[in-house]
Amino acid sequence: FNEIPSGYPIPGKTTIYDATETIELDSTPLNGGVLLKILVLSVDPYIRGRMRDPSKASYNTAFELGKPIAGYGIGVVLRSENATVKVGAHLYGILPFQEYTVLPDTKGLTFIEKRENLPWSVYVGAAGMPGQTAYVGWKKFSNAKPGEVAFISTGAGAVGSIVVQLAKRDGLKVIASAGSDEKVQFMKEIGADVAFNYKTANTLEVLQKEGPIDVYVLLIPYHPHLCSVLIMGHDRYWDNVGGETLEAALEAATKNARFIECGMISSYNASPYHIKNLMTIVAKEISISGFIVSSKLPEFRDEFFSEVPAMLANGELKYREDITQGLERVGEAILAVQKGDNVGKSVIVVADE
Ligand code: NDP
Repeated sequence: FNEIPSGYPIPGKTTIYDATETIELDSTPLNGGVLLKILVLSVDPYIRGRMRDPSKASYNTAFELGKPIAGYGIGVVLRSENATVKVGAHLYGILPFQEYTVLPDTKGLTFIEKRENLPWSVYVGAAGMPGQTAYVGWKKFSNAKPGEVAFISTGAGAVGSIVVQLAKRDGLKVIASAGSDEKVQFMKEIGADVAFNYKTANTLEVLQKEGPIDVYVLLIPYHPHLCSVLIMGHDRYWDNVGGETLEAALEAATKNARFIECGMISSYNASPYHIKNLMTIVAKEISISGFIVSSKLPEFRDEFFSEVPAMLANGELKYREDITQGLERVGEAILAVQKGDNVGKSVIVVADE
């Protein structure tokens, strides 16, 4: 991490690829810890939120300048001086963006076993934190009933594409938005009843025509783990973006709509947008639930792991990935996610087994 960005994070400026530090794989002292070879790393919107002045508080810590950034990843144990960690075991959790790393302990990491036909990348995507976000947010807050209408922004993304499918499985009509025609096509393939490009169509007009919205799931990229569901003229709104999309969702919401606030990416690299119709929340008696996946996951962890990886493996749940090979290209991948150039879950493949 080289420099705190003021707008978009710039590859080679905000972050630099540094190949000067090396680890001797056979002889680096472990001091009771483990040596991990990192296989995959996840590029998530919240990474932008950690690239801030450390004096500004948030729900997670700021990255330290001059040190590697970190994020969800999976690594395989090459050497271990810890009796509870076997060589060859795979660990999942927050890891530094490095090829190899020595960990003093495995606090906060979990052992993970993969299914034959799912690559490791899926375990930082649909079977990892983003999939858990969709699952936890939907199960906990949607209170969905068949026949209701859900609006899901960022519906082609890592979180949003899973929410689209969960809502369809619960028998709702799904309206989903995304920022390109390619993403619109993908949202149709995963079952959205109405899929539109918010850059070329008027969101409010679509919602008023296809709604009302009962559930709004707002997926707004930038706050690493901030999810919101707004329910409006549509039965449910899953909000990932905030800003003008949230404003339109409020306008089109039904009475007693439920909004699930999951993130607000539209403001992650720009000044906050001032919502003009907040009084709608009062007038329509809208419920708004914001959440951070890590605090809600314990309640759903067992259920998630017993259901979701199997459904991904047998094709009942579909996922799409945007794979970048090599740590050298992390900066580009981070920028792509902030700008919406990723199509599917952004993952860095650092190494094969
Ligand atoms: P995505 O895979 O959806 O990638 C981010 C997407 O955000 C882009 O592809 C782009 O899609 C969209 N986007 C970028 N800039 C803007 C903008 N200015 N206005 C509107 N949309 C924009 O990311 P995730 O699925 O990983 O994350 C989705 C959201 O969920 C984020 O807000 C994230 O912060 C949040 N989140 C919250 C968690 C929580 O615990 N609350 C946990 C994980 C994620 P498009 O082309 O469609 O615009």
